Amino acid sequence: MVSGRKVLVIGDGLGGVSFANKLRLKANDTHIKVIGNSPRHYYKADGLQIPFHLKNYRNSIKNIRFLLHESIEYQRDDVVRINSGQKTVALSSGSTEYYDYLVIATGARFAPEDIPGYDGEAKHFYDLQHSMELQLILEKFQGGTIVVTVPDSPYQCPPAPYQFAILADEYFKKKGIREKVTLTFLSPFKTLFPLEDISGRIETLFIDHGIGFKTGFKTTSVSQKNREVISEDGNHENYGLLVMVPPHKGQPYVVDSALPNEFGFVTVDKYTLQVEDTPGVFAIGDAANLKTVKAGSATMRQAETVSDIIAKELGSDYPVRQYDGGASCLIYTGNNKGAHIITSYSGETSMSKPDRLGFYLKRIDSDLYFSSLVRGMS
Ligand SMILES: Cc1cc2nc3c(=O)[nH]c(=O)nc-3n(C[C@H](O)[C@H](O)[C@H](O)COP(=O)(O)OP(=O)(O)OC[C@H]3O[C@@H](n4cnc5c(N)ncnc54)[C@H](O)[C@@H]3O)c2cc1C
Repeated sequence: MVSGRKVLVIGDGLGGVSFANKLRLKANDTHIKVIGNSPRHYYKADGLQIPFHLKNYRNSIKNIRFLLHESIEYQRDDVVRINSGQKTVALSSGSTEYYDYLVIATGARFAPEDIPGYDGEAKHFYDLQHSMELQLILEKFQGGTIVVTVPDSPYQCPPAPYQFAILADEYFKKKGIREKVTLTFLSPFKTLFPLEDISGRIETLFIDHGIGFKTGFKTTSVSQKNREVISEDGNHENYGLLVMVPPHKGQPYVVDSALPNEFGFVTVDKYTLQVEDTPGVFAIGDAANLKTVKAGSATMRQAETVSDIIAKELGSDYPVRQYDGGASCLIYTGNNKGAHIITSYSGETSMSKPDRLGFYLKRIDSDLYFSSLVRGMS
């Protein structure tokens, strides 16, 4: 099938790379070009395990050319503006790219500036640099209170910080200093975990691991001088080490391009991922303003839907599977066990019984990611 039309993908993370590979399988003669600014592709989920020496960062990074099919063009550049009227994308190198179809997959950015006092004080594991920094801090930590908390706005992989607290319990037990460490989780939600159906299960895990928690604690600022986090309603909580997921927002060029958006997250149709009032333009993954979790599993399913739609428009007879809000996260539940959390637009959430298989899958998930998932074979 030769379409002669160009599909431009912006963003070289999981969404952009897996989408491009999937579309290539469905419409193999189409000109597909990916533009992104991270030619060294990092498997972000490993960021949870790196601080505890459970993964070596060298195995979490691959060259992007190794992951994209050879027929897919790749350019390292920064997108600075989209002109959807003219069907063009302006790049920081000064060049302009034309497209027939555009897929936005530029993920989310961190917005530490939203919490005064956060920068330079709070630690996290949401990118490789900070994950490595946290590894060194935990190595030197001899005792005190570790406060783990999350922002009151969408962030990637909601269960990750909860798993961090469980892993911290096991890490300090192994080091033989657990009795010197207090672990406290501050949840901004009305239940400990935002997916209320399974919050009770997470509470039980926390009790088993001696992790204290408070709900309804929305951190609005950090006092570096007093080493305390301050909540919206004026409550204070002291820490020796603060581990807080930074607030997330969409990329600034989305706002500059006047695309429909909320905090920089592109407004899309929840089933087709088409950008509101903008035919031929789609947004997938963390960049999209969807009322489902920001997760790799959700991103890959969205990539499936959009590649179905574009392949069909290019003449293939692929059936189109609309996105159903589905996401599934494999989580570490402690004691060498893991479980699956599954959710969708239906609002029903389930969590499987923790077992050893879940644990082993979690240990090898980067191999699965690099050998098949990001290559579009899921
Ligand atoms: C610690 C952690 C643990 C996680 N664990 C899990 C898990 O267990 N299961 C799960 O399903 N999900 C997990 N996730 C979430 C998952 O990694 C993300 O949801 C997924 O990476 C989103 O893919 P994306 O392509 O939308 O965004 P990204 O992967 O962030 O990719 C966006 C890309 O766009 C590039 N970019 C941004 N702006 C521009 C620009 N202006 N010009 C050019 N390029 C640009 C970026 O450099 C990046 O390469 C985890 C995330 C973290 C941080």
